[in-house]
Amino acid sequence: MPRVFIGIGSNEGDRLTMISQAIRQLSATRGIRLVQMATIRETDPVGGPPQERYLNTVIEIETELAPPALLRTLQGIEHALGRRRQAERWGPRTIDLDLLLYDDRILHDPSLTVPHPRMHERRFVLEPLAELAPAFIHPVIKRDIAALLRELPAAHDAPTAS
Ligand code: ATP
Ligand code: MG
Ligand code: MG
Repeated sequence: MPRVFIGIGSNEGDRLTMISQAIRQLSATRGIRLVQMATIRETDPVGGPPQERYLNTVIEIETELAPPALLRTLQGIEHALGRRRQAERWGPRTIDLDLLLYDDRILHDPSLTVPHPRMHERRFVLEPLAELAPAFIHPVIKRDIAALLRELPAAHDAPTAS
């Protein structure tokens, strides 16, 4: 079974309920089994318009679904939980489910890029991911998750101007 990691974020509505519903629906999907879940943490929004703070976590699943089918499942759950895509990028959302890593697979399709193209520069992804899989090697950068977290540039920690 491939090791697969999903990044989860919510900053609209009842954030904790959104996250638990998303995990419940994923676990209830045929061909998907929840393996482990990281701590949920509150984070400041990165990029996009001014918006509320996020709750973020990462889960590990086992799945028989190929990456495109898994992405469709994630998008179906986003839709079911009220996610509506807006014109503006990185706006507020009830739920965001991103496919971070699918074993050591590398996919370059714009509609599905794996590893997730921005995961290695996001503390809100790397911190929970490092709880679950610190020694997992990023297949493109060829560094483990703990190292990517350690080596995040300080600039990414700077508070955004308000
Ligand atoms: P970001 O991708 O920077 O985290 P976002 O999660 O807000 O931003 P979305 O609006 O959720 O972006 O997704 C935009 C598009 O990204 C989707 O239509 C999807 O096809 C594409 N996409 C490409 N690679 C992935 C991936 N690994 N996981 C989820 N979506 C992806
Ligand atoms: Mg995202
Ligand atoms: Mg997304």
